Amino acid sequence: MKPLFRWLLDTVLPPSCLACDTPVEKEGQFCVTCFKSANFVSAPLCRCCGVPLPYAEAGGGVRKCPSCIATAPAFTQARAALRYDETAKRMILPLKYADHTEAVKGLAELMRRPGEPLLQAANLLVPVPLHATRLRARRFNQAALLAIQLARLTGRPVGVDLLVRRRETMPLEGLDLAARRAELEGAIAMRPDGDVRGKRVLLIDDVMTSGTTANECARVMLEAGARRVDVLTAARVADPRFEALALA
Ligand SMILES: [Zn+2]
Ligand SMILES: [Zn+2]
Repeated sequence: MKPLFRWLLDTVLPPSCLACDTPVEKEGQFCVTCFKSANFVSAPLCRCCGVPLPYAEAGGGVRKCPSCIATAPAFTQARAALRYDETAKRMILPLKYADHTEAVKGLAELMRRPGEPLLQAANLLVPVPLHATRLRARRFNQAALLAIQLARLTGRPVGVDLLVRRRETMPLEGLDLAARRAELEGAIAMRPDGDVRGKRVLLIDDVMTSGTTANECARVMLEAGARRVDVLTAARVADPRFEALALA
């Protein structure tokens, strides 16, 4: 619920930018300054997990990042709208609060462009189930809000609670790949009456960090008979090793 004074302000003032207080024409928009400072994920990127890469392959080919070459993820492709930096954080932060509607609209709109081919080909949109570490602080799933809005925009069906968290997990930050996978093992499951057999599923989340959670969700759905699973997120954390190379 919005506090009354906020509701009053919203009704008398023009809508403000999704990431700051600058007035904008329509709700769900960014102001010019924020839009310019938004760091969109752009090529070259890993053709599999979508992580921005420092160099394009000679001859214009699209290559895979070292992580995907070492261990192919369960999902086929992951794409994201924004690099997860300070601007992206400011855009995604409102999802945590009750008056999230505008932020959801704006972010879903940003996700459409990089996600277009995946959205077109998907039979079903499925949000990553609520991160257990955040469950205590929140009553709703921000990934589900984005999935519902993308379903509205594209006419694709959405399975809001198709995946469930069976137990709490520790934050995965700072753990290596093996430890992250071990922490998530058995933590995510299909709802017993959920059916993904033969479907091409697009998994939706707000931020992709290492991709381990997305990978586990994809693995569970493929095991349940999904034909293919892709991933679309509002933002993704760039690999610091590649960022250093790109700046060198
Ligand atoms: Zn702004
Ligand atoms: Zn990759």
